[in-house]
Amino acid sequence: MHRFIRQIAVLVSITATLASATATNAQQPAIPTPESSLGFTVGADFKLATYDESIAYFQKLAAATNRIHLIDVGKTSTGHAWTLAVISSPENLARLDRLKGIAQRIAHPTGLTDADAHRLAAEGKVFVDISGGLHASEIAGSQHTIQLAYDLLSRPDDPKIKAILDNTVLFLWPSINPDGQNIVVNWYRENVGTPYEISPLHELYQKYIGHDNNRDAYMLNVVESRVVARTWREWEPQIIYVQHQTAPFPTRIWLPPFAEPIAPRVPALMSRQVNTIGMTIAQALESNGQVGATHMGTGFDAWYPGYIDYMPMLQNINSYWTETALYRYATPHFYTLDDFPRDMRDLRPQSLYPSPWPGGWWRLKDAVDYMRTASMATLDYASKYREDILYNRYQAGRNAIKRYVAEPPYAYVIPQSQRDPGAAVEMLRRLAFNGVRVSQLDRDAVFDGAIYRRGDWVIPMDQEFSELVRQLFEVQEYPDLREYPEGPPEQPYDAAGWTLPFQMGVNAIEVRSPVPNETRAALRPVRGKPTDWRASADAPFSTDSVASGITAPPPAITGSGNLLAVDPAQNDAFRLISQALAAGGAVRVAPAARGQGVRYVVSGVPMSRLEGWARERSLRAERVSLGGSAGVPAARLRIALFKPWTASMDEGWTEWLLDQYGFRYTVIAPTDVRAGDLATRFDVILMASDSPRAITDGFGSGTVPPRYAGGIGDAGARALDAFVRAGGTLVCLNQSANFAIDALDLPVKNVVGGVARKDFFASGSILEVITDQAHPLMAGMPEHAKVFVDGSPVFTTLDGFEGSALAKYAPSGSPRLSGYLLGEKYLQGNAAALDVKHGRGRVVLIGFRPQWRGQPFGTFRTVFNAALFGRDIAEGASGTAGFWAAPKR
Ligand SMILES: [Zn+2]
Repeated sequence: MHRFIRQIAVLVSITATLASATATNAQQPAIPTPESSLGFTVGADFKLATYDESIAYFQKLAAATNRIHLIDVGKTSTGHAWTLAVISSPENLARLDRLKGIAQRIAHPTGLTDADAHRLAAEGKVFVDISGGLHASEIAGSQHTIQLAYDLLSRPDDPKIKAILDNTVLFLWPSINPDGQNIVVNWYRENVGTPYEISPLHELYQKYIGHDNNRDAYMLNVVESRVVARTWREWEPQIIYVQHQTAPFPTRIWLPPFAEPIAPRVPALMSRQVNTIGMTIAQALESNGQVGATHMGTGFDAWYPGYIDYMPMLQNINSYWTETALYRYATPHFYTLDDFPRDMRDLRPQSLYPSPWPGGWWRLKDAVDYMRTASMATLDYASKYREDILYNRYQAGRNAIKRYVAEPPYAYVIPQSQRDPGAAVEMLRRLAFNGVRVSQLDRDAVFDGAIYRRGDWVIPMDQEFSELVRQLFEVQEYPDLREYPEGPPEQPYDAAGWTLPFQMGVNAIEVRSPVPNETRAALRPVRGKPTDWRASADAPFSTDSVASGITAPPPAITGSGNLLAVDPAQNDAFRLISQALAAGGAVRVAPAARGQGVRYVVSGVPMSRLEGWARERSLRAERVSLGGSAGVPAARLRIALFKPWTASMDEGWTEWLLDQYGFRYTVIAPTDVRAGDLATRFDVILMASDSPRAITDGFGSGTVPPRYAGGIGDAGARALDAFVRAGGTLVCLNQSANFAIDALDLPVKNVVGGVARKDFFASGSILEVITDQAHPLMAGMPEHAKVFVDGSPVFTTLDGFEGSALAKYAPSGSPRLSGYLLGEKYLQGNAAALDVKHGRGRVVLIGFRPQWRGQPFGTFRTVFNAALFGRDIAEGASGTAGFWAAPKR
């Protein structure tokens, strides 16, 4: 009996050993838990993982299983390495090249039949792109990606996960803003446990642009935008999902459908699919007992097409974002009903918010868990509807091609002859980088009632991403939606009008009749240098494989003389000027060769070098001889840029602009301004568009560590006043003009200050102004200029005013060119920009946003002119007498 029992026991033990050995072989080494690598569980109170710690964990995952590959996608703005994780079944990863080929083919369907597409959809897998951390302070996103990878890789035999791994390929960005994750987590670690634990950041979490990293999708101004765009063009995912954390309180997560209005050119098929995914996520949350999901609220409209997580809709990709609730960082918070808005306290179930969140604790872990459910629901949807999703990507592209074979616009022509050909090149390169095909005429051609020249660029619209082109090129008519009848307008969540050719000062012509066959035969697709896709991910446009084929027409250098005059209508002329100043040269203003305007004359650098730079930049330039002084030497041009502690994006964009064009400048903080004695250090001080409060008061004391508290205060205002009175130039962009009017007591009034929103509303739109081309501050501007306004001041002058108007609104009619404008009478006849004499110096007030998100190439030069407006140029400056008389009111 005993012996028998012992035999069974041995047998059982052997069987158990065998079973465990088999399991170990099948699973390779054990999948490491996040805790084993980070030292804490994901979402633990007060604990956050940096980007570097996150990547260290992903590397351990890659060493432990063949269900994940890591890809080096390029570098960030600060040069940090950037990793993308690809997760799928080992079989799919082994044939990833073939699956990529299918994704590419259905994304670019020219020549494909419906039957071919069905066959490809049957064979292909859904490429799903999920990321966290775009807005780095919305921190749960970058933490959830760590947990999501573990969830998928540690249970590959769970039936639902097995289906996901078999049917989809997940492109998981541990963070889509690596620099930001490190900045935010290090900042929190510095403060956790101190009175400043939940302090806001005093710097931008992405170089130059911070939160605007979700506004750069079509402009691709910063490296990160280009790395992401290039990666998406390489893999052509069918679903793109970005996690955010600004849920409308007290709801716990906001999900699509988007609020009104949506971008009108988005394919309806994509909108329908995204609506379905939003509802699918809500259902998954509910079945997990995660309450409080909503689709309501007027906040998240999808009008502006510059979101990185929405623009791909115009490339026939299901793309969307969600907004999970956030308190601050990893600090938990307890909410009671008293914290709720009054109309939400009854916890009444609503159609799209049927399980109201009742309050209580909200922790980082809760946010991470909601995001895990949402990401997993997306993958589950992709797995279940694999073939439909793949076929619909094909269909949306095929429909776009068909549409513009049959209806206008049939094409856009961008002539090579432009005021600023370089701006046309910049615009086309961005489109090409985003996958739009650009052609060039190889001979002169007559069509659509016009003559076009050899070399002119043509964008035929019978291509799959044509809706993107149309959405960017056409005039926006923002719908007049009111909060209630006759009430104030519903505020657009972002810009109302962005028409790219208007902003960039480029002439783009819509072709209204079908392009004749003989013209089609004269079209040569632009091709570029073949370069390694990844090696050049952080390089400028000019080295990209397609965009490099788009180049400006040849330079034209005329005349004789020992100085070089450049035309400031060309932005690249300012690159030459800053190069010359850096080389010890000098610059001055002289009358233009023809017409009203002025131009810059550069001296002090050998002509051969100047000409070389002009040729490199394809500039129009003239060799001239002028008498008189040599202009402003480099040593006299000392430019400062004021940076408040409030993490100002517009200040960041100003740095971006000055860096792009090679200007040298010093960034000054509120403490530098308060310290005074500015006139001995600087000639020009630039202030970006910030509110008077951000400039004067900054963050309140006690809300941030003391070194980042406060603004320039009264002492700073007095120092700026003294700086100008002593002969300095203070340049105030947009909202900061309101600061200067008050703080320096200028005889100027903002006529729309304090006007009710129901009477006047002009936000994020393009308006027309008339400029005084004879004034050096408007050098290179057209007489009728298009400017981007956004909560902008409108000026009239008061008794005692000395100086001149630089730009004005027409005395009658509406200046609206694109977007939304209510109350045009407040603009008519008033000034959009002023040069105000103050003591021995000047205050330049620019009542628009000349460098908004790096988009209005047509007004960049007003910032450059202002930066060069040191005393030597300012002293000789006067505009056209009688250009503007302030209207009598
Ligand atoms: Zn966000």
